[in-house]
Amino acid sequence: MTGTVAVIGGGIQGTLCALACSAAGWRVTLFERKPELWQGASANNEGKIHLGFTYGLDKSGETQARLAELGGRFEDALTAILGPLPAEIVVARRVIYARHASSALEAEATQAHLESTAGMIGVAAAVRRVPLPELRALFSDQITDAWEVPETTIEPTVLGEAILARLGRETNIDIVTNADVAELCQDGTVWDVGGRQLGQFDRVLNCAWDGLAQLCGGGAGFCLRGKAGFIARVRSPGPTLPVTFCFGPFGDFVPLGGDRCYVSWYPACLMGFTTDLSAGSRWFDRLAAGFDFAAAYRLTRRRLAELIRGLELDEQYERVRAGPILAAGSTDIYDLESRLHRRTAIGLDAHGRIATINPGKLTTAPWWASKAARWIQDQGPSSA
Ligand SMILES: Cc1cc2nc3c(=O)[nH]c(=O)nc-3n(C[C@H](O)[C@H](O)[C@H](O)COP(=O)(O)OP(=O)(O)OC[C@H]3O[C@@H](n4cnc5c(N)ncnc54)[C@H](O)[C@@H]3O)c2cc1C
Repeated sequence: MTGTVAVIGGGIQGTLCALACSAAGWRVTLFERKPELWQGASANNEGKIHLGFTYGLDKSGETQARLAELGGRFEDALTAILGPLPAEIVVARRVIYARHASSALEAEATQAHLESTAGMIGVAAAVRRVPLPELRALFSDQITDAWEVPETTIEPTVLGEAILARLGRETNIDIVTNADVAELCQDGTVWDVGGRQLGQFDRVLNCAWDGLAQLCGGGAGFCLRGKAGFIARVRSPGPTLPVTFCFGPFGDFVPLGGDRCYVSWYPACLMGFTTDLSAGSRWFDRLAAGFDFAAAYRLTRRRLAELIRGLELDEQYERVRAGPILAAGSTDIYDLESRLHRRTAIGLDAHGRIATINPGKLTTAPWWASKAARWIQDQGPSSA
């Protein structure tokens, strides 16, 4: 055995780091504040493997380039840690980007952005502008243009099940749930909120997402948004491909097979926004406890029915999928200058024995997990 590693956070980032470090021969202890793993953002999103198509409002092109690079590696990096992926993980290989009449990006600029993104992954010709008759059959007049692009959507709960099954077979990983970590010390000691020492480790990986800043003492320039989505049933046949409404009114419709779908509409599904990250995960817990999910679903259902021709969702949703989103920025996405449109402040930040990992997106987590395992190997066990 090479040495010991503590991983804080049982979402995609923490669980994949635990597996990658264990494969490299380290003894891992994975701490999670909730009673079970995979209850945070990783289980509660629409599963888009971002390649940068969504980030047309970062005029520098840096977000697009970063996500094209890391999103393009998602499946290979994930397979390298997890082994062959279950086929049911993939929901769709193409996505429709639909442009609303009030979009902040003109149609030609949108097309140019989508084509240059596809060009970055070597498939510029794979962007298909939806012809007018097809556009009118799919959407109301509020949608002026749409494009079909090559972007994968996964089912995050299937990914979670595969990761948890794999963790269950690992003998080098101890999982400690209900462990609310309060402090990480440079000597490798991990403390919980009750002042109890949870152990001392050679290396510590902070993968706590909404709890990241609370544990590393940072967070300046970052914000948290709480965002809801819903699993619902469609009464009418909806679009067969996932649809993203982009660059203005934001929303998602993801068909999940059978009559089930994921839906979200912004700002109805914006649960809250804060630049004070000191409460960690407690901020989102409090937000979720006071949020009117039924009202958010009603508005989402109505708005999507106005945009997608003939779409009729059940009056009640089946399940809520809501979670916190960590990003750089101090204003929301309606501010065109918001740094939320620029998702480049991500990655691994190491100081002494502790590395903090902000994946920014689900999409980049497998890549950062292998980077973290390499960082740990390069450092070797501590001499203290
Ligand atoms: C509504 C929504 C839609 C999204 N859509 C997409 C998308 O389509 N594509 C995409 O790539 N990304 C998307 N994202 C972002 C993506 O979900 C996150 O980037 C990713 O899941 C982060 O993974 P994580 O493991 O860091 O966080 P999490 O899955 O949240 O895991 C962090 C874990 O740390 C635990 N924790 C926190 N503080 C402590 C503490 N003090 N002690 C112990 N444990 C602690 C939490 O309980 C949690 O389980 C979306 C997010 C949301 C909320």
